[in-house]
Amino acid sequence: MIIAIDGPAGAGKSTVAKILAKKLSFLYIDTGAMYRALTLKALENNVPMGNEAEIIRLAGRIKIDLVNNPDGPLRVLLDGQDVSLLIRQPRITQFVSDVAKIKEVRQILVKMQREFGEKGDCVLDGRDIGTVVFPYAQKKFFIDASADERVKRRYKELKGLGQEVAENEVAKDLANRDKIDSTRQASPLRQAPDAIYIDTTNLSIEEVVEKMFNLVKTNG
Ligand code: C5P
Repeated sequence: MIIAIDGPAGAGKSTVAKILAKKLSFLYIDTGAMYRALTLKALENNVPMGNEAEIIRLAGRIKIDLVNNPDGPLRVLLDGQDVSLLIRQPRITQFVSDVAKIKEVRQILVKMQREFGEKGDCVLDGRDIGTVVFPYAQKKFFIDASADERVKRRYKELKGLGQEVAENEVAKDLANRDKIDSTRQASPLRQAPDAIYIDTTNLSIEEVVEKMFNLVKTNG
């Protein structure tokens, strides 16, 4: 079974996706981490963000592994190296949407995501899972929250990672990424017509997970 979770940045998708996957004993696939890993690779190779041909070439050679650990965070391996924390750096967040808007990059990463998804039951989160990657997913969710709440959540998350950030910078980053992600030509962020919309603004993480879990279990 495939569960697709999409939505804007900072809505809490990865937090609920991870817990839901654990509750169901499904694999969790963080597709944003894959775009982040490629962005890291490009920056490490000093590739200017405008050099799309080189970024596409790197995408074709990259090896990304997502290692699920039920009792800890998902580990992201880039060419065998653990980059789980490196991909959360502000310099990655700043450029990731520019990498993710390249059509050929998406084709390569979507192929990898489908291969991961075909390994068994899984929960995937991203921007185009229900619309493009797995349009036939058995269950689709679109997780949203007010812009203010999303900024608050992302700010708290970054603080938790030990990053010194200003709340207005977080707000700018979210607005910028959402704009690029939802207006790009190649598979923009959209709610699939058959996705269940959940506004999580006034819900706790547990309440959101519970709601999703019940909807999966009852096939509602
Ligand atoms: O989910 P996360 O915020 O880590 O995603 C980082 C970026 O990766 C997004 O802002 C978006 O540009 C890109 N992305 C995407 N399609 C996905 C997942 C992420 O374009 N399925």
